[in-house]
Amino acid sequence: MLDTAIIGGGLNGLALASLLQSAGRDFALFDARDRLGGRILSTAEGIDLGPTWYWPAHQPRITRLIADLGLESMPQWEEGQHLLQHDPEGKPSIFEQTDVHGGARRLRGGMQSLVKALAARLPAERLHLSHTLSALRDRGAHIELHLREAAGERVLSARNVVLAMPPRLIEERIAFEPALTSPLQASLRNCPTWMAAQAKFVARYPEAFWRRQGLSGTATAHHPRAVLAETWDACDGHGDATLCAFVALSPLQRDAFRGGMDLLAASHLGQLFGTSARDGRLLHHDWSLDRLSCSVLDRTPSRTHPHYADPELRVPTWAEKLHFGGSESAAYGGGYMEGALEAAGRLYRELSSTPRAFALRQ
Ligand SMILES: Cc1cc2nc3c(=O)[nH]c(=O)nc-3n(C[C@H](O)[C@H](O)[C@H](O)COP(=O)(O)OP(=O)(O)OC[C@H]3O[C@@H](n4cnc5c(N)ncnc54)[C@H](O)[C@@H]3O)c2cc1C
Repeated sequence: MLDTAIIGGGLNGLALASLLQSAGRDFALFDARDRLGGRILSTAEGIDLGPTWYWPAHQPRITRLIADLGLESMPQWEEGQHLLQHDPEGKPSIFEQTDVHGGARRLRGGMQSLVKALAARLPAERLHLSHTLSALRDRGAHIELHLREAAGERVLSARNVVLAMPPRLIEERIAFEPALTSPLQASLRNCPTWMAAQAKFVARYPEAFWRRQGLSGTATAHHPRAVLAETWDACDGHGDATLCAFVALSPLQRDAFRGGMDLLAASHLGQLFGTSARDGRLLHHDWSLDRLSCSVLDRTPSRTHPHYADPELRVPTWAEKLHFGGSESAAYGGGYMEGALEAAGRLYRELSSTPRAFALRQ
């Protein structure tokens, strides 16, 4: 029987799989998508549609992992003047600030290079894509997993199951028999999926014209008619020049303007950076439409970074066979990639201390 089934091939699941692999332990990882990485997603050119930044000053785990994997990083570009727009009709003003992004760094080739490097450490036969977990049943000595795949339903047994996915998706999409306790259900439900309601715009240009104008590419719009909340320079020294932006409109507003989002974004870019900015090749990625990242509750986002670290989410249940992960379960760095790694370390310790101990690989 399989020792540990990991559900979720985002950074949390991959990092845990990598720890189990190094320890010679038996595991299999399942993800509903046809790709690994979860919220980590980059275009073929290496532009990040999900996470972009990590902060070495206070995120030791992700910083160390990137160094260990030998990935090339670079500071977020901030040379030049930053823009601030308060008035929807008026020109943006200049704001003076050093280190706007708090010492953030990016990966050359995009964050997807982290996923690729982690996956390369894992045997392909342990990674099962396009497998959606729909139900779990406690069978005493093991857990029965019900997974949907193209060929139909697959039922598997495992001694341990790790749910390496956003807590709200666990509560919303998976049937548990017996049901989870009410406090645990409440903790899962009350834990927003960080950034799941966000949408990003990418605008590509033949050259970084804003740099020639003495601008950094960083702009913030603080007014109710803003389409883009925040832009930044996402060039990486190769190919086209790129600006990236978080969309200011809520998921509901985006639904209403769906057909016109490109036009709205191009017009706002033009207001901020001048007419050349209207002519970018645009790409729009809306995470709120992605059912494997965004729960129904997440479509009404919180405005501030939620307070993560609910201890209820860090206690295994079903006689310590069922474990909860995902970055949002972390005691440190919750919601961020740092949290996904913190949670992976905690899950590994939980699995190592179960009375049934790990089955070693055959
Ligand atoms: C737009 C955006 C910008 C962000 N910016 C940053 C940033 O700059 N810095 C930073 O540190 N973090 C950022 N984040 C957050 C970061 O992406 C997450 O912290 C991290 O990727 C979470 O990893 P995870 O493995 O915990 O979860 P996920 O990446 O969500 O992985 C969960 C996995 O579970 C799978 N899954 C879901 N349901 C099922 C099911 N029923 N059966 C099987 N599989 C299932 C999903 O397909 C997914 O692969 C950002 C996120 C977004 C969306």
